[in-house]
Amino acid sequence: MSDYRIHGETGEWEVVIGLEVHAQVVSNAKLFSGAATAFGAEPNTQVSLVDAAMPGMLPVPNRECIRQAVRTGMAIDAKINKWSRFDRKNYFYADLPQGYQISQLYHPLVGEGSVEVEPEGGSPRTIGVERIHVEQDAGKLMHDQHPTMSYVDLNRSGVALMEIVSKPDMRSPAEAGAYLRKLRAILRYVGSCDGNMEEGSMRADVNVSVRKPGDEFGTRTETKNVNSVRFVMNVIEHEARRQVELIESGGTVAQETRLYDPDRNVTRTLRSKEDAHDYRYFPDPDLLPLELDDAFLEECRKSIPELPDAKRKRYEMLGISAYNAGVLTAEVETAGWFDALLATDVDPKQASNWTVAELFGALNRTGATMATCPVSPAHAAELLKLVADGTISGSIAKTVFEKMLESGEPAGTIVEREGLKQTSDTGAIDAEIDKILSQNADKVADYKAGKQQLFGFFVGQTMKAMAGKANPGVVNERLRAKLG
Ligand code: ADP
Ligand code: MG
Repeated sequence: MSDYRIHGETGEWEVVIGLEVHAQVVSNAKLFSGAATAFGAEPNTQVSLVDAAMPGMLPVPNRECIRQAVRTGMAIDAKINKWSRFDRKNYFYADLPQGYQISQLYHPLVGEGSVEVEPEGGSPRTIGVERIHVEQDAGKLMHDQHPTMSYVDLNRSGVALMEIVSKPDMRSPAEAGAYLRKLRAILRYVGSCDGNMEEGSMRADVNVSVRKPGDEFGTRTETKNVNSVRFVMNVIEHEARRQVELIESGGTVAQETRLYDPDRNVTRTLRSKEDAHDYRYFPDPDLLPLELDDAFLEECRKSIPELPDAKRKRYEMLGISAYNAGVLTAEVETAGWFDALLATDVDPKQASNWTVAELFGALNRTGATMATCPVSPAHAAELLKLVADGTISGSIAKTVFEKMLESGEPAGTIVEREGLKQTSDTGAIDAEIDKILSQNADKVADYKAGKQQLFGFFVGQTMKAMAGKANPGVVNERLRAKLG
């Protein structure tokens, strides 16, 4: 359990957090219409008559959207409900032409599941998921297009969302951050959501309450639509502190909906429970209940790829360090690239060290990402092989890698053209050693008089004279022979 605490005037307070994550389903078409879902299209160019709620239009569930939500449920080990139903959530707003959102209140598609997290500086924990239900997104109001009017863009109207509701199981900003990152990774591995928080494909409602350790849960507030992991962590810190100060000064926390202002890093009241909507939920009469058959579920299950936790364990079994395994499996693009490298005959441990140190270093320097990685797994494998079989030294490999990044050429071509092969030719190595020993007669005398640490100096000088291309093993052996 986390020992994160807010230190108040009356002692220590524990923070309780539950997250409701809205994740846009990856699908070419909307939840109940055939309209496209691509991000960034001109306003109102991806709107069918269903999405615009023209009278008499009927919704038809999109099999792919349901499939994605089921696959997501399976990926967090959740109970999949073979029978579920859509409900209408009724409210009026200018971005909602139907006058209701089709959602699932009473019988969600996915029931209880869980996500394993390893928060930074904390111990591993299992965070419960209460449910995942499927619902429509609303349109978007645009207030900055005209001096006296607001416009509405219905492109998002009807796009399928998964609402992933956690249990109130998190106890610190770090745990909430780790949960969101892990959930995002799982969704991206599965391919059910692109996880792009900047484009709004994933956003979180953050429920926070405080209590004295051991007490009952306190009253929570819900901060809506927070669109980055960092912001979610900020909201929790800020909101927990605000609640503690409020209670300690004699006030009570109102169950209310709040908004986060990232520019000022504060939350403020949006609406209180008193004016909370009565949504008059009822089963949507236009839609039959969803009934999933075994063949559909079997296909969904078969399509789930190896997930981050399993992949990480597999990497560790291959001798890869826990740290490297964690880094290499954190993002689906990285894991895909590294799996392709492993599929060649590289040594897993050597390959992981090189990838994390050299490749990631280069990506950081150049601002590239794994998705735009300029080096293919096959080219990386060739470079590693040249080091493993002694064709080039480790230090020359760094030079070769720099040139690979510049030209995109394979390592072998660069090594050949620039004559970078490591030499074990004792004739050439002996000749250099003789030169260095005669130029440094004083140091040779010191060495022979017992100054053992000078050996490294002779190795270094020889390697330098041979432009890093001498086989270090041979250099060591010849030096020992000559120095006696
Ligand atoms: P609602 O439907 O009103 O939003 P739910 O019971 O579905 O209420 O809870 C919504 C979210 O609030 C869930 O993620 C849940 O974990 C979280 N939650 C519930 N109670 C608390 C609490 N006391 N403190 C913090 N989070 C809570
Ligand atoms: Mg809620």
